[in-house]
Amino acid sequence: MSVGVLALQGASAAHVAAFARLGVDAREVRAPRDLDGLSHLVLPGGESTTIHRLLELFGLRAPLVERFRSGDLRLFGVCAGAILLGRENGLRPPRLGLLDGDVERNAYGRQVDSFTRPLHAEVDGLGGLRGVFIRAPKLGALGDGVRVLARDGADPVLVEAPGVLAATFHPELSGSDAVHARFLAREVDHQPDALRVV
Ligand code: GLN
Repeated sequence: MSVGVLALQGASAAHVAAFARLGVDAREVRAPRDLDGLSHLVLPGGESTTIHRLLELFGLRAPLVERFRSGDLRLFGVCAGAILLGRENGLRPPRLGLLDGDVERNAYGRQVDSFTRPLHAEVDGLGGLRGVFIRAPKLGALGDGVRVLARDGADPVLVEAPGVLAATFHPELSGSDAVHARFLAREVDHQPDALRVV
């Protein structure tokens, strides 16, 4: 296993620290060569349009998508990272379309509308999670292959699909490393053909 955290803009250090607590030495990813040999990559929170632009500028967007589609790179999108993974919807920023779901930016309002709340886990191992929502997006319509792992009220906030994990909150700031542990524990091999991204 070789774990990376995209470190172009946003909150990469807290993810590296979470993996360190789990005994995994994660490396920061800034250039295409940093993807070599990587099995897991976090797309952290930050500002999704800025991260999109920097992915293009540093030539990372195409190799990242290619590595994912080849089935040997597992992705974890957090907040801005989840926005980027979502379905293309014609709005800024352009999405990578690797998660079969709509992800609406800034769906709770402005930065002052950030909040933390206990979440409802739908699977074992994620009980007692606290959601830290920072100018968070909301997940909208999800494809059949997307499994909801946790909710805030009725809203899905943590979802999983073949090769992808996405959180609209910040698990790296929540005081629990359970979500990161789940990311590492899942099979790396996935079947991109199972993805029906429309
Ligand atoms: N509001 C940010 C965006 O739209 C995401 C916020 C975050 O990552 N915490 O990109």
